[in-house]
Amino acid sequence: MKKGIYLDNASATPLDESVFAAMQPFFAGLFYNPSADYDPARKVRQALESARSLAAQTIGAKPAEIIFTAGATEANNLAVHGIMRRFMKAKAAISAIEHESVRGPASRYNLAIIPVDKHGLVDSESAEQYISNQTVLVSVMYANNEVGTIQPIRKIAAKLEMIRRQRQKAGNKLPLYFHVDGAQAGNYLDMHVHRLGVDMLTINGGKIYGPKQSGVLYVKTGVELLPLLQGGGQERGLRGGTENVAGVVGLAAALQAADAKRHEESIRTVALRNQLETGILKIAPNAFVNGSLKHRLPNNLHITFPGYDNERLLMELDERGIYAAAGSACSASTDEPSHVLNAMGLSESSIRSSIRFSLGRRTTEAQIKAVLEKLANIL
Ligand code: PLP
Repeated sequence: MKKGIYLDNASATPLDESVFAAMQPFFAGLFYNPSADYDPARKVRQALESARSLAAQTIGAKPAEIIFTAGATEANNLAVHGIMRRFMKAKAAISAIEHESVRGPASRYNLAIIPVDKHGLVDSESAEQYISNQTVLVSVMYANNEVGTIQPIRKIAAKLEMIRRQRQKAGNKLPLYFHVDGAQAGNYLDMHVHRLGVDMLTINGGKIYGPKQSGVLYVKTGVELLPLLQGGGQERGLRGGTENVAGVVGLAAALQAADAKRHEESIRTVALRNQLETGILKIAPNAFVNGSLKHRLPNNLHITFPGYDNERLLMELDERGIYAAAGSACSASTDEPSHVLNAMGLSESSIRSSIRFSLGRRTTEAQIKAVLEKLANIL
């Protein structure tokens, strides 16, 4: 296989070698069902519970608040359906730029859409307008997968806490839960659930150098959900099915490693991203960057090249061994213009001229220089 320059880390990250090593014993050697009652199976159960404790500790939660899922899509579905099926007549409110795994499930219920501004930001003050007395769930993503905009999660949480107090005073017994999809946030942002003030938080193993189809839904003590998958009662009855022990062990190790590397990687990545951004704007002075320049993931560069067709550009890059994306790989199959860019007010022609570069741990300065040279040739 051709060794290229990979700039699509928002869609998938390579498995960290130490994470892979931590997972290996649980494929063939320690394959036992953790629910079985003999010595080697108990060892597997111990590994599973240690992974739960490690994941919990890393995000400031209790082990019992960690529900392991098969990825972020499932965690998001569990959060939304899990609450809304308990309160069928109540309402949900989500931001206009949520991932399909929140949008899809939420669209089954009474739903309000919280708009974003041209930078893709939710305004925590005006968000209140979209929360009524019947709203039971608010879901706002931590960082957007296309433009990398980081939402003011703490401010929104504080606002919701105020609304809860008002409800209490008014005798409204309906709870108000705050779910945050943190699938894109794990490498760069603070994931401490109490500092964030969230009731539920989605974590995605496949985006933090852990295995794909591994994830967590953090569920704060006292928040009651209905399960999506019923079976043998695993994961406190919230997610039936024999546990993916290797996956869970990998996810916990990846989460801890991401937490340890966060500060250093953020600084290193911002510098490289800015180098790429400045270089591109020199080559293509009419290009413009989308998303918030102030509140943006360190590894994200979403850029419009007016007059260019993004599919063509991506093909030209691909031919030169540079791998980037038009936005979200997950909705690439539909060929619909991105709902995220639409909500931010980008014209359809700008949307079709936009590319997302997402950097990662393996991105180097030499690679950025090579990309700039090749882009200059293409443009
Ligand atoms: N949420 C966000 C913000 C994402 O970016 C993604 C994947 O791109 C998901 C959820 C779903 O993750 P997965 O496909 O790994 O389940």
